[in-house]
Amino acid sequence: LERLRIETDFHSSEIIIGESWRSFGKYIPRGEAVIVTDDNILKIYGKDFNGLKVLSVAPGENSKRLEVIADLANRLLKLGTDRHGFILGIGGGVVCDIAGFLASVYMRGISFGFVSTSLLSQVDASVGGKNGVNLETVKNIIGTFRQPEFVICDPEMLKTLPEDEYRSGLAELIKHGLICDEGLLTDIERNIEAILQRDTRVLQGLIVRSVKIKAGVVAGDEKEKGRRMILNFGHTFGHAIESKAGLKHGYAIAAGMIIASEISVTLGLLSTNDRKIISDLLNSFNLLSEYKISTEQIRDFIMNDKKKTGDAVNFILLEKLGCAIVKSVPIGKLMDLYMRIKV
Ligand code: ADP
Ligand code: ZN
Repeated sequence: LERLRIETDFHSSEIIIGESWRSFGKYIPRGEAVIVTDDNILKIYGKDFNGLKVLSVAPGENSKRLEVIADLANRLLKLGTDRHGFILGIGGGVVCDIAGFLASVYMRGISFGFVSTSLLSQVDASVGGKNGVNLETVKNIIGTFRQPEFVICDPEMLKTLPEDEYRSGLAELIKHGLICDEGLLTDIERNIEAILQRDTRVLQGLIVRSVKIKAGVVAGDEKEKGRRMILNFGHTFGHAIESKAGLKHGYAIAAGMIIASEISVTLGLLSTNDRKIISDLLNSFNLLSEYKISTEQIRDFIMNDKKKTGDAVNFILLEKLGCAIVKSVPIGKLMDLYMRIKV
């Protein structure tokens, strides 16, 4: 069991990795908590929810809507939850987003914590205090920055995760190594078999390392004004591919990381040898799948990116394995670079 603290400007939260999720009661500050979860999790794990009140949503991204938040808020009111209440989100990234956003606006904000059940949320989504919902056309456009009191990551729970969800999470794990920690990449390379078999002990070590990286980056830049942007490595093109070609997040990010690596090579930053190590690693987890997207579709998507400033985007490049930099690149230039690489 490993406990990590994340200090931000106004708050400190604790990430507990390797704890049995069934011990969540120890971490809830006051007796009364309401669990927010999704129907899949409820079905597999609900019998151990210890009789707490449960609000469950339909699984999947489509639940990240303001209507769902309003409905949950109504149900909290009916349950009599007041501003001393506590919300425990049990689920993957979607549940963390919903539970965190609900908790941060209900009665102007109540305390909350997570049991993070997917690999993607354990290594990424549940750390950093971002939460939010989508509008019809734009993802995560309504949201807040707010830190949970605690996040419990129990690698045992990953055993029930569907295979493609599991692999999708591996992409973000690899991303953390690529941007910050070459040693993490070596660890992953050495343990490919154990990772594919979801070995709890190996996973625990990797999750700890990954969370440390993310926490370190977030702590200095909670609101994403500078260094935190490196976490978007692979995401500029990746989000376009996710949205227009319909790939699952991690697979789309893997594709985006390949594009960003190629561009880094073209700009004379990354060596071709490092680029090959990256594609080999992603390949060993079958993360590079076919997709169809036109240059026009990518341009359209990036033009509408909420993270662009004027005509430029902050693009993340690699100088070498474990070392990312942020560079403001005009969208026209970025598209030229994209057309020069062949992926
Ligand atoms: P994310 O990939 O961002 O974590 P979700 O919260 O949508 O996204 O989780 C992905 C899918 O996996 C959902 O259908 C969710 O119900 C399911 N899921 C999450 N954690 C587990 C788990 N430990 N066991 C089985 N299914 C899970
Ligand atoms: Zn991501």
